[in-house]
Amino acid sequence: MSSASEGTQHYFHRAAREMGIGSRLEKVMIAPKREVRVECTIEMDNHELESFVGYRIQHDNSRGPMKGGLRFHPHVDPDEVNSLAALMTFKTAVVNLPYGGAKGGINVDPAKLSHSELQRLTRSFIDGIHDIIGPQMDIPAPDMGTNAQTMAWIVDQYSKYHGWSPAVVTGKPLELGGSAGREAATGRGLAIATEAVLLDHSLDLDGLRIVIQGFGNVGSWAARFLYDRGAKIVAISDATGAIYRKTGVDINALTAHTQAKGSISGFDGGDRINPENLFSIECDVLVPAALGNVLTKDNAADVAAKFIIEGANGPTTPEADEIFAKRGITVVPDILANAGGVVVSYFEWVQNIQQFRWTEERVIAELQSVMSEAYREVKSIAKSSRCDLRTAAFELAISRVARATALRGLENENFCLIGAQK
Ligand code: GLU
Repeated sequence: MSSASEGTQHYFHRAAREMGIGSRLEKVMIAPKREVRVECTIEMDNHELESFVGYRIQHDNSRGPMKGGLRFHPHVDPDEVNSLAALMTFKTAVVNLPYGGAKGGINVDPAKLSHSELQRLTRSFIDGIHDIIGPQMDIPAPDMGTNAQTMAWIVDQYSKYHGWSPAVVTGKPLELGGSAGREAATGRGLAIATEAVLLDHSLDLDGLRIVIQGFGNVGSWAARFLYDRGAKIVAISDATGAIYRKTGVDINALTAHTQAKGSISGFDGGDRINPENLFSIECDVLVPAALGNVLTKDNAADVAAKFIIEGANGPTTPEADEIFAKRGITVVPDILANAGGVVVSYFEWVQNIQQFRWTEERVIAELQSVMSEAYREVKSIAKSSRCDLRTAAFELAISRVARATALRGLENENFCLIGAQK
């Protein structure tokens, strides 16, 4: 089993069967509602024309408008986007946001395009999908390879067709209706989830050894929050390599270095190690915060952590997940661990619609409360159903999506009975 969507489907069906929602509802819930593919042809800086393929896959809208990021990456393909769109449906449901799930992306290496080429590509993509997104329909956000600037171009391009519409995307710059605390939100949420699971095991972050794969938006902010709470980040990697320091890397110095140089390459506050050995480093907590499908049957036996907190979407294949369960490693799944980003996206959308700005303190306090509540609910299902946190998170999400689906008119006797008993 290797494709991204096979993994997501496996986790979904495992939980759905456990709950007995019935095969009819299972089938309806996993299939995406709409898959759009657009050809984005732009003029490059050298005046040649080049075409890129973009996708927007809308998985489910039973609980509200669809929500999910836009990824610019050479791995983007329909299977990956499909899987990520479904994960968004379950992520928004776990943290109980009034949203469904979607995902999009363009198959491109953004590092190879100039700023103006990226701008033309983003606008061309929006020309292709503007009529299927919108503040009450589908609300994109940043993901790998996109950022606040990309969202600003989207607001501008979308607003040309539909009038001023900042709520069409989240993760915008503050000047265009972005929210305080959005950029740091996924990392902050991950730190909250980490503290919650540690507390359950009578542990705290002070002095704990952490290994982080990835120093992009999620990994770098997670590193900062975990470090500030007293953890030792003993190893960390990015696309250019990995560094190790037994006594813990100085994350403030590393952040200053990457802000100046663009990557961890050349940082002298640790020993360079082979990134392939990252997962086998002795530590308490492992945070995969880069690509999907990185923890596999080939390396799961080597993982030397007691906890895995999934900052990335879909980092663990089902085979690896099974090995971790057998080895007693606690996994906090992506749809809970990295939900902080979409939670603050929701706060941003609420602020846009109300035309009212929240303070950063309010954003942080509300994020803390949503993440803690979601963790508490997932944990309580894991306890009562005697299952792992991933299955419990899927069960919580599926019950919410299934109830909404059933209430909106897609009857399912089995499911309504389960709902009525609660
Ligand atoms: N791309 C982020 C994720 O995977 C955020 C999505 C959003 O804010 O809509 O959760």
